[in-house]
Amino acid sequence: MSNRAKRPGRRSRRILAVVLAVAAAVLCFVVDRSGGQGSVPCWEDLYQVFGLEPGTAAPVEGQTSVTFLDVGQGDSVLILQDGSACLIDAGPYNARDALAETLAARGVDQIDLLVMTHPHADHIGGMPSVLAQCEVKTLLLPALGDSDSDGSLVRRVLEQARAQGTELVRAEDGMELPVGNGTLTVLSAGFAPEESSSDDPENDSSLCLQFRAGTFTFLDTGDAERDAEADLLARYGSDLRSTIFKAGHHGSSTSNTEAFLRAVNPVLVTASCGQDNDYGHPHREVVERLASLDIPLYRTDRDGSVTVTVSGQELSVLTTRTGGESLLPAA
Ligand SMILES: [Zn+2]
Repeated sequence: MSNRAKRPGRRSRRILAVVLAVAAAVLCFVVDRSGGQGSVPCWEDLYQVFGLEPGTAAPVEGQTSVTFLDVGQGDSVLILQDGSACLIDAGPYNARDALAETLAARGVDQIDLLVMTHPHADHIGGMPSVLAQCEVKTLLLPALGDSDSDGSLVRRVLEQARAQGTELVRAEDGMELPVGNGTLTVLSAGFAPEESSSDDPENDSSLCLQFRAGTFTFLDTGDAERDAEADLLARYGSDLRSTIFKAGHHGSSTSNTEAFLRAVNPVLVTASCGQDNDYGHPHREVVERLASLDIPLYRTDRDGSVTVTVSGQELSVLTTRTGGESLLPAA
């Protein structure tokens, strides 16, 4: 009995010694690589030593982050929740390499839910590359029957998805889809184009989605314009309230009405738009409207990719181009 009792103790001490030796070696290596200043390395030093950018570090278990990816003039939003990934739109074709690099840097090789808000090329041009790079479990689709967009691009996306066994799901109002411990709800499966007064009614046919994890909420209305916003407002009212909001239609003045912004009442807004884009997005009226409502605006044309991470009662906002990090209360 006494011999059997001794052996595990000796083994435990040996394991402890090995662990301490490895920890000491790692610490020496880190201090050496951070300039041997003798100071305790911070997390940013550790990220650098191990080749990670702070904004691209793998998510912590249980954590929620939303990244507005810099895809130039287009849209792509990556939601990570407790190891599950949801990608809403995939930017234009010419951003496919940047998108692929970012997904790889974030350790995303499987997408639980890929969403097509509407079939415009600035939202789905990168989708074939994403389907080639990642295993996509489910593809959530808007109504595609009357699309006047590039039919060959949509067909290619659907063919690739079917070929890899992706489940194709046609969005319906009120549909709820799990993302980790969170839920993506389809608030609207698209405003009827024939009722839209927009110059491009297909914008109003965008899926309007609200993601929720705990008390955190994120609203993405794709390129929905004022008619679709009014419809959401009439149906949901104050339930539209969301922690963060992706500016409708890249920050266009045809979206983001004051009444809608007041109902959403977000802590921050991000406009996804290209540098010096031909459309002038985000429009000056919207920038001024947000300023008058005291809502901070982040812009992918100036800030690069914008990552919002939920930490308790705070939001941490990290931008890749300007390198800035700020903390905002999540309520
Ligand atoms: Zn668009």
